[in-house]
Amino acid sequence: MRRRDLISFAPVAALIDMDGTLYDSMPLHARAWHRLMTEQGIDCTLEEFYMYEGRTGVSTINLLFQRAFGRELSEEEALELYRMKTVYFNELTAPEVMPGAQSMVAQFIDRGITTVLVTGSGQHSLIDRLASDFPGAFPEGRRVTSRDVSHGKPHPEPFFRGMELADALPENSIAVDNAPMGVVAAAASGAFTVGVTTGPVPSRALYEAGADIVYDSMPEMASRLPLLLDKSLSI
Ligand code: MG
Repeated sequence: MRRRDLISFAPVAALIDMDGTLYDSMPLHARAWHRLMTEQGIDCTLEEFYMYEGRTGVSTINLLFQRAFGRELSEEEALELYRMKTVYFNELTAPEVMPGAQSMVAQFIDRGITTVLVTGSGQHSLIDRLASDFPGAFPEGRRVTSRDVSHGKPHPEPFFRGMELADALPENSIAVDNAPMGVVAAAASGAFTVGVTTGPVPSRALYEAGADIVYDSMPEMASRLPLLLDKSLSI
């Protein structure tokens, strides 16, 4: 509040990332990406894909092609590779709901805070599960996916779109994301930015990306959320 010259903090919207936040899907994405890029003759590590999390698929593909071959692909070629990556992802066992995520979402809903999905993903296999895994939290009209934005994370546009859907101002919004790119985007949007480490990315990387607070796991966030939401916050 001091940093933003606010005299009170009353969140009305929670803008929540999907992969690595609501679902423990990042290890599967990393494996699918690694398989795809290795087949393309690109030298890469499994771990590096955690750093690209939040980007759109096409921008990740072009980043690696630029690095390996000094050129980008046409839109058509890139979309074809992204389609293959989706096939590889869907061949793997479906990811579990992230422990703690349902509790976090329920706590927002209990307090009348509007929950909105803000993901760089466009994968139907997970988006279609939201209604059963998080009932009432992310109905149609409260989702921002890769199909709804012209600039993906780390650009703040996805979070701005989420605020529009919730009819909320940045200073009344909380953003939750597990990846450096997502945290950069959320912080740039002006939302109070919660980073959660759920994979190999260290908490330091999320603070450096601009997080206001970082929790070491989703269960930790879920258990400490009342401290953030229920304190009568005013200076
Ligand atoms: Mg994520």
